[in-house]
Amino acid sequence: MRAVVIHAPKDLRIDTLPETPPDADEVRVRIGSGGICGSDLHYYHHGGFGTVRVKQPMTLGHEISGTIAAVGSNVPRARIGQRVAVNPSRACGTCEYCHAGMRNQCLDMRFMGSAMRFPHMQGGFAESVTVDARQAVPIPDDLTLAEAAMAEPLAVCLHAARQAGPMFGKRVLITGCGPIGALAVLVAKNSGAAELVVTDIAAKPLEMARRLGATRVVNPLAEPDALKPYAADKGRFDVLIEATGSEAAIRGALELVRPGGTIVQLGLGGDVTLPMNLIVAKELNLKGTFRFDPEFELAVQLMARKVVDVRPVITAEIPFTDAVAAFELATDRNRAMKVQITF
Ligand code: ZN
Repeated sequence: MRAVVIHAPKDLRIDTLPETPPDADEVRVRIGSGGICGSDLHYYHHGGFGTVRVKQPMTLGHEISGTIAAVGSNVPRARIGQRVAVNPSRACGTCEYCHAGMRNQCLDMRFMGSAMRFPHMQGGFAESVTVDARQAVPIPDDLTLAEAAMAEPLAVCLHAARQAGPMFGKRVLITGCGPIGALAVLVAKNSGAAELVVTDIAAKPLEMARRLGATRVVNPLAEPDALKPYAADKGRFDVLIEATGSEAAIRGALELVRPGGTIVQLGLGGDVTLPMNLIVAKELNLKGTFRFDPEFELAVQLMARKVVDVRPVITAEIPFTDAVAAFELATDRNRAMKVQITF
């Protein structure tokens, strides 16, 4: 089978790899769609992020969906042919965090397409992958494989929303409207945010934010004073979902959050310096958010029940044999939101 494999920065190849037959509790999924994530782009452009580096060829991809093609001896044969969203995380199930219901913090996590472990966990941009049967979450007939491949990033945003607490009737600010920021807009809107302001420094993402339900969009470079009124009376926003990871965006937004408000840091950049006096004096809740756990099944459910419609966020579907073109397109924020590759 063929797969999209990163060898070094800017060295992305279509390699032919052996298929892995499923073990007793596993299934083999013929992949249909795979979404390109920011981390895939980091591997492609820089060979990694932070201290994580690609040290051996690695199949990219962790936002995937497909059809079950083979099952292990403990899995019902009837599952063959079932269309599924693939949960890329395989927690150990036995460590203290798994027992505490925090499987996203598992001490022995196997996350597809990640170079955090060595040997690396191979990813899902492949004609087929073998996963634990529990990772293959069934989808209804009327959900496309493209939508199903959005379950993973949507789950990330649902987990972030859980960190934010109730948003019903609240004023919410989302800084950064890439694919994750855009899904966060959908989640905040569906959570009942009364006012939903979205910022970005590019025009296209702001158009998308408006389409997805933002009540106001602001480009802080083009309109540097537009957010000033929100700084009145120590800040107007109850919740900030920070999806850029940029120091300038975080600093600017801190002024706009009201005392006692909550900041969920969803974007990841490098190290940043924050005005701790402001965080202390305004008694702000600064929360991290990392991947997801039960939110994956919830994401599938919300899409299946048409509560959340992710289709506008998918702006291109490109055959995997043109993976390099797909990765270049996904890098251009004014031409693309979520780019998926098809198999
Ligand atoms: Zn564990």
